[in-house]
Amino acid sequence: MSADTPVLKGGEFLSRASEPDTILVPEDFNDEIRMIAQTTVEFIQNEVVPVMDRLEKLEPGLSESLLRKAGELGLHALEIPEEYGGANLPKLASMVVAEKLAGAGGFNTTISAHHTIGTLPTVYFGNDEQKKKYLPRLATAEIIGAYALTEPQAGSDALGGRTQAVLSEDGQHWILNGTKMWITNAGFADLFTVFAKVDGDRKKFSAFLVERSFEGLSTGHEEKKMGIKASSTRQVIFDNVRVPRENLLGEVGQGAKIAFNILNTGRFKLGAGCVGASKQIIGIAAKYAKERVQFGVPIASFGLIQEKLAEMTLRTYAVESAVYRTAGLIDAAIGNNKDPQHQLKCIEEYAVECSIIKVMGSEVLDYTADEGLQIHGGYGYSQDYEIERIYRDSRINRIYEGTNEINRLIIPDMLLKRSLRGHLPLLAEAEKLAKNLGDISPAEGSGMELARQLIDNAKKLTLLLLGGAAQALGENLRQEQEVAARIADMVMVSYAADSAWLRTVRLQNKGVASPVHEAMVQVYVEEAMAKINRWAHEAVARFQSSEQAKSFHSIIDRLTVHVPFNTVELRRQIAEAVLKAEAYPFDF
Ligand SMILES: Cc1cc2nc3c(=O)[nH]c(=O)nc-3n(C[C@H](O)[C@H](O)[C@H](O)COP(=O)(O)OP(=O)(O)OC[C@H]3O[C@@H](n4cnc5c(N)ncnc54)[C@H](O)[C@@H]3O)c2cc1C
Repeated sequence: MSADTPVLKGGEFLSRASEPDTILVPEDFNDEIRMIAQTTVEFIQNEVVPVMDRLEKLEPGLSESLLRKAGELGLHALEIPEEYGGANLPKLASMVVAEKLAGAGGFNTTISAHHTIGTLPTVYFGNDEQKKKYLPRLATAEIIGAYALTEPQAGSDALGGRTQAVLSEDGQHWILNGTKMWITNAGFADLFTVFAKVDGDRKKFSAFLVERSFEGLSTGHEEKKMGIKASSTRQVIFDNVRVPRENLLGEVGQGAKIAFNILNTGRFKLGAGCVGASKQIIGIAAKYAKERVQFGVPIASFGLIQEKLAEMTLRTYAVESAVYRTAGLIDAAIGNNKDPQHQLKCIEEYAVECSIIKVMGSEVLDYTADEGLQIHGGYGYSQDYEIERIYRDSRINRIYEGTNEINRLIIPDMLLKRSLRGHLPLLAEAEKLAKNLGDISPAEGSGMELARQLIDNAKKLTLLLLGGAAQALGENLRQEQEVAARIADMVMVSYAADSAWLRTVRLQNKGVASPVHEAMVQVYVEEAMAKINRWAHEAVARFQSSEQAKSFHSIIDRLTVHVPFNTVELRRQIAEAVLKAEAYPFDF
């Protein structure tokens, strides 16, 4: 992407079209990015997979030594500034690494927690002294990081935590008391970013860099988890822990800003990781389907197995397109400015997209894991087969980095806030559309042209719903969570469909697309429109009076209707490509 490419603002995809040659697609990754991806894959294959069973048993010292090996390869240094021992590469590099780390099972959580939520608070909010003291050692994993926000009584409502910090009488130490829950890497981390309320005051919610060696810090037992057993998860208990005054991160009262910005940066990588795991599952399932014989033929020859493989693949393709489009947007906004504060602002700009890829990535992964297991039949239920572990490991992604419910609520909320502040023209666009409903025509034609029109209609409908809900409900939209979530769903599938269409047309323009690329877009869009139709009717029936709703319902049908086409045949084509490759066929 050239520097003068018009870059969309966060959320602007709803009201403004992109040209296919302005978006980042995996097929265009340069050699450096491919090399980083390859290094990560080799690390996983050579170092992690052979010891997976031992990692799952939490063998003492093993995770730490693997983290140090990853440090030697530079995998923790990607987002750390050069002057503190890092490489400060484009965000795309860290997304590609996140994607490839998915093959590390539960150890993926360990490594990601270390170099993302365990390290980035210091990168983005530390002062020079703190950065000098901790970042070079975090980059090599000489010390291991963790992030301690959640408490037994405060999860999604993170600011409701009870952990307190009080300045000592001599003013030299913060004295921390409280308990944190579900802390990844707690079994061996050396440095915790801990959130606490100064004097118990919610307005003074703050972050502190707390070393394990500080007296009074202890950890609970390892949680007995359903999955990601290869990661350490414990409570962290603070009993009059004396934290040097200079270990306050940022300023008193900045805790919420630090906490939420760091979770936001974690989200786009989590989305990428879910795409990586989905790709892995598609490969495993395709191979198994070819080997397993029933009724005298491989189960891969059955329509229902092919349908599953096709669905797993086309949904992964759509989210993958959204993930890397987002990476391109963030990196284009960052440009050559390496200042961490500027970088953070650019990531925050795309917070809506980050939430979208977190939710969609984790839900597509749960779908592929579930269908991948189903393809294995009873064997999928056995611990002798890798898919059993992957199924259990996948489930956590809908829960951490902000649950999918919380992220769904964030999406319309943020879009409306940005519109009301004049940062995005969404409400004005919605009003324009509402005034000119007669101009909106149903989609026509076939193939990619039909798909384009349907996606444009999906975006229009989403804007109409957003505007209509804002007008009818105002501030109450927050309480009408079901309506807000349906709008979020519409925003999400519109973004994924738009991204997949743009990627495919870009590949077609370059002469490197296959008919299977087009098939995936067509089927994805066809399914999206059916869902959008239902979500929109449901939402409108909730917030409009029945008289007003009548015309809205007819618009919804007009915008989503199209002549049906042969999706069965298209899915079979997709499945054929997957079975031939015995893998996700569109990996970079
Ligand atoms: C394995 C694992 C590792 C973790 N690692 C870390 C870590 O390293 N550091 C850390 O700080 N935390 C960590 N967490 C905590 C994680 O971030 C929280 O579990 C998560 O934020 C949800 O909080 P909760 O579990 O208390 O659920 P709750 O907040 O109690 O939510 C329960 C349900 O209610 C829903 N809900 C809550 N509020 C609302 C609302 N306003 N509207 C609608 N629905 C709502 C939720 O979506 C969810 O479905 C980890 C958790 C696990 C399980």
